[in-house]
Amino acid sequence: MTQQIGTRCVQAGYRPQNGEPRQIPIYQSTTFRYDASESLGDLFDLNASGYFYSRLANPTNDLVAAKIAALEGGSAAMLTSSGQAAIFYAVFNLANAGDHVVVSSAIYGGAFNLFNTTMRKMGVDFTFVPVDATEEELRAAVKPNTKAFYGETVSNPSTAVLDLELWAKVAHETGVPLVIDNTFPTPINCRPFEWGADIVVHSTSKYMDGHAAAIGGAIVDSGKFDWLAHKEKFPGLTTPDESYHGIVYAEKFGQGGAFIFKCTAQLMRDLGAIPSPQNSFLLNLGLESLHLRMKRHSENGQKIAEYLAANDKVSWVDYCGLKGDKYYPLAQKYLPNGSCGVVSFGVKGGREAAQKFMGNLNLISIVTHVADARSCVLHPASTTHRQLSDAELEAAGVRPDMIRFSVGIEDSDDLIADLEQAFAKI
Ligand SMILES: *Cc1c(COP(=O)(O)O)cnc(C)c1O
Repeated sequence: MTQQIGTRCVQAGYRPQNGEPRQIPIYQSTTFRYDASESLGDLFDLNASGYFYSRLANPTNDLVAAKIAALEGGSAAMLTSSGQAAIFYAVFNLANAGDHVVVSSAIYGGAFNLFNTTMRKMGVDFTFVPVDATEEELRAAVKPNTKAFYGETVSNPSTAVLDLELWAKVAHETGVPLVIDNTFPTPINCRPFEWGADIVVHSTSKYMDGHAAAIGGAIVDSGKFDWLAHKEKFPGLTTPDESYHGIVYAEKFGQGGAFIFKCTAQLMRDLGAIPSPQNSFLLNLGLESLHLRMKRHSENGQKIAEYLAANDKVSWVDYCGLKGDKYYPLAQKYLPNGSCGVVSFGVKGGREAAQKFMGNLNLISIVTHVADARSCVLHPASTTHRQLSDAELEAAGVRPDMIRFSVGIEDSDDLIADLEQAFAKI
């Protein structure tokens, strides 16, 4: 019997042998020793598996990646030093200069900048479509050079829910994979592979780590996309790699291994966004309680969203778990056990009232982060988006009065009491 998800959180990825440490070892070493040059040569040729230099791969990282692969139900996974690096690697492993990607516009601001500024400079083209685009609108965005579709299961910060089955359908009829950022729900609340996604990326800096301790990212392959059936679209996976003596990744490592192997062998080798094994150890500590924390984050998020929706000092609330929210029906379908702990809302009185309200909070602190154990708030209009005018903010979907509230795992009564006293002062 396949293990339940909570058991996988605690135990997957590492099984110590007789007399070995119960906790995963931290292989704090840049390099690895071999008896003979020939055996090292085989590793360089990808003819044998093993470690030689921690810029490409490290055993501690791989134990934690194996756990994340088990949680998502994937065939292979790798860790990166940040969520941004995971997104860049996953997309660039598919789309190079001259290629094109269809992207949901309801995505994390950092991912938007990566695509719209930096990757455009590298010659990759992007078409941004509404997260609730119809089948026809998605099809209309496709170009002959389209190599992937990309979106977030639950968007940061508006908690818009992507129609995974619809996006997977159009991606697959185009002959390309669907790449999904599953940071907010985590595999506890949604496993995108079960709905047709092909590649999943994570910012592990958020709920997976869960304690605001270590920046990190992960890429997981479902193993379900048939690269060889779309040979002409993905030459990087289906034709010889001259930098590895003519290896064809899809043939040598199969459908389940090709994507991650190529990503490690080329992008990690050349760009080196590898996490330190110490950070991977911390990430694994977070993963051990992910199933317990996500349950609490989701319950607290729901309670706070309901409290805010009933408060007459609040002008609007975005939370996909609220009945009446635009994304409630999709949330019921894809996230029946809860979504996440991030709730966005507006305070009556606009920008000034929002800032004043936040200054009144005690337990809930102001930080540039979401998705850790401690509750926190951010006012995007005066921080992450402060260079924009009110008109530009509206266009970017960030209202001037918007407060992004990341609900932690404290007792919800205490959080509501803190909100109450802060509202009473405005
Ligand atoms: C934070 C975040 C990222 C970026 O991750 P970093 O670890 O900060 O690089 C990507 N996607 C989503 C949804 C995020 O919330």
